[in-house]
Amino acid sequence: MAEQLVDKFNRVVDYVRISVTDRCDFRCVYCMSEEMTFLPREQILSLEEIQLIATAFVELGVKKIRLTGGEPLVRNGVAQLVGNIAALPGLKELNMTSNGSQLPRLASELKAAGLNRLNISLDSLNPQRFKELTRTGNLETVLAGIQAAKQQGFSHIKLNAVILKGRNDDEILDLINYIRQNELDISFIEEMPLGQISEHDREQTFMSSDEIRTLIQAQFPIEKIDHTSGGPSEYWRFNDGHKSRVGFISPHSHNFCGSCNRVRLTAEGKLLLCLGNEHSVDLREVVRQNPGDLEPIKQAIRDAMLIKPERHYFNLAQEVKILRFMNTTGG
Ligand code: SAM
Ligand code: SF4
Repeated sequence: MAEQLVDKFNRVVDYVRISVTDRCDFRCVYCMSEEMTFLPREQILSLEEIQLIATAFVELGVKKIRLTGGEPLVRNGVAQLVGNIAALPGLKELNMTSNGSQLPRLASELKAAGLNRLNISLDSLNPQRFKELTRTGNLETVLAGIQAAKQQGFSHIKLNAVILKGRNDDEILDLINYIRQNELDISFIEEMPLGQISEHDREQTFMSSDEIRTLIQAQFPIEKIDHTSGGPSEYWRFNDGHKSRVGFISPHSHNFCGSCNRVRLTAEGKLLLCLGNEHSVDLREVVRQNPGDLEPIKQAIRDAMLIKPERHYFNLAQEVKILRFMNTTGG
């Protein structure tokens, strides 16, 4: 029988999120501080090293990989990496999370390389507000990126929206109208306390998935469905039969650790066993000490399963315990 990765709590790990860079052309207020110092290039895994680690994971039974970052599409050569990973025998799905800014340029190359699905982050449909939330982003370019992805025939494109009370919660219904008009899905995400930020007080802007859902229900009745994308979202559908789906990612209000099937690889090659804990293994060290050799990487990954924590605890009122920002974690 093919090998599987199983942790101490009997959870099968068959999903890996790989951060291909910590860099980004945006500076979203919940994700980064305004002045960021990015990692020096030699500390970042090369594309060949990423591919080797991805190969090790797929040989260990991983079925789904998501490329993320930072902004994955600002890394040169990423479409080539997509092509190489997509071709790995046994991998069922290769997906990407992107801010959309480079999609007008790259959507067709990514489709041709074999990327299966795209999640695109979009927190506001108001150009001024979009600029405030992303600090450097341009709404028009991102909307053009979404259309470019649709034109290339990507199906089930999903938007990700982080909702901050008092900042963009008045746009929840606009976002719902937008996904319905464009036949997209959406996930609303509760803000997580990753990295120290001073732009806003996370406790004050926190908006729970339940609050968001109540607001949507008042205008668009929705009901929960069984669908899972293998990620942490819970999905709901519109009672009027519209085929767009609405997801909620609720790391605070609905703990999803019991069904956790995933690990993350940071841009510098750390294997993170849990989003909300610091448990990690340095795979870069293993790769660089054994160039081109898959077996030591596979053994390090097998061993890592023994330290995957049972669950995370987030508490917005406490000091930030997880110092890494989401761009280093690999969202
Ligand atoms: N740059 C890409 C993007 O924005 O889609 C991929 C990386 S980004 C870190 C992945 C996702 O994490 C985005 O949807 C973003 O909104 C979300 N994110 C970033 N920081 C977060 C935080 N502190 N809490 C919750 N979600 C966050
Ligand atoms: Fe960049 Fe994505 Fe973080 Fe925004 S959420 S700063 S787009 S990595």
